[in-house]
Amino acid sequence: MKVLVIGANGQVGTHVIKSLAERGHDPVGMVRDTDQIKAIEDAGGKTVLGDLEKDFSHAMYGCEAVVFAAGSGPHTGADKTILIDQEGAIKSIDEAKRQGIKRFVLLSTVGADYPEKGPDNMKPYLYAKKRADEHLKSTNLTYTILRPGRLSDEAANGQIRAAETLEDKSGQIPREDVANVLAEIVENENTFNKTFEILNGEINISDALGQL
Ligand code: NAP
Repeated sequence: MKVLVIGANGQVGTHVIKSLAERGHDPVGMVRDTDQIKAIEDAGGKTVLGDLEKDFSHAMYGCEAVVFAAGSGPHTGADKTILIDQEGAIKSIDEAKRQGIKRFVLLSTVGADYPEKGPDNMKPYLYAKKRADEHLKSTNLTYTILRPGRLSDEAANGQIRAAETLEDKSGQIPREDVANVLAEIVENENTFNKTFEILNGEINISDALGQL
C-alpha cells in the first residue's frame, strides 16, 4: 500500500518508514528539506517535498493511506504548536478526504482526552492534539488515533500495553515501538475507528492490538 508519512524526518517518522517498508508497504516520506532525503531512502522509503505551513496537496497524490507523525516539538511556542500539531493535522485530514484517501492514522498523545487536567505548560499542546483528534473523528475517514505516553530513545522491545484508557500511565515507550505500532495499525482492521493509548508493557504488539 502506498502510504504517505507526514513528519517522516522525525525520530518516530523515520522508524515508521522503515517499519512500513519491512511490512511490504510502499512508504513515501514528506520532508521539508532535500538534505533529509537520504535518511528516508536509507530507511526504505521514497520522498516528497512538502511543508505543512504551505500547500502540500501534491504529496498525497496516489496514496492510499496517511500516517501523520509530525509535530512542532517541545522547543517552540504555542503558536507553532497550533499551526503544526493542530492546523497541520486538520489540513492533512481535509486533504486526504478531498483526494478520496480513506485511511488516516494520527499520532496523538496521552492526555489529549482531558487537556484541562494537564499541567499548564502542556495545555496548548494537549488542546491542539485534542482538536486534531476530534476533527478526524468527525470525518468519514477510517481513522485510528494513537496516544502514546512519554517517548524514549531506547531500542524497540516489542512489548506494550494498549487500551482506550490506560489506568496506569506511568512509564515510557520507545519511539521505535510507537513506529512499529503505527505501521502495524495501517491495515489492522481491529484498530479501525478506534482511539487508544499505549505504553511499554508485557504483551507483543499484534496481541495487544488484537485485544482492543
Ligand atoms: P520529532 O523528531 O520532533 O519529529 C517531528 C517531525 O515533524 C519532524 O520531522 C519535523 O520536520 C516535522 N515537522 C515539523 N513542522 C513541520 C512542517 N511545517 N511541515 C512538515 N513537517 C514538519 O518528534 P518525535 O519524537 O518523532 O515525536 C513525534 C510526535 O509524537 C511529537 O510531535 C508529539 O506530537 C508526539 N508525542 C510525543 C511524546 C513525547 O514524549 N515526546 C509523547 C506522545 C506523543 P523537520 O525534521 O524538518 O524538523
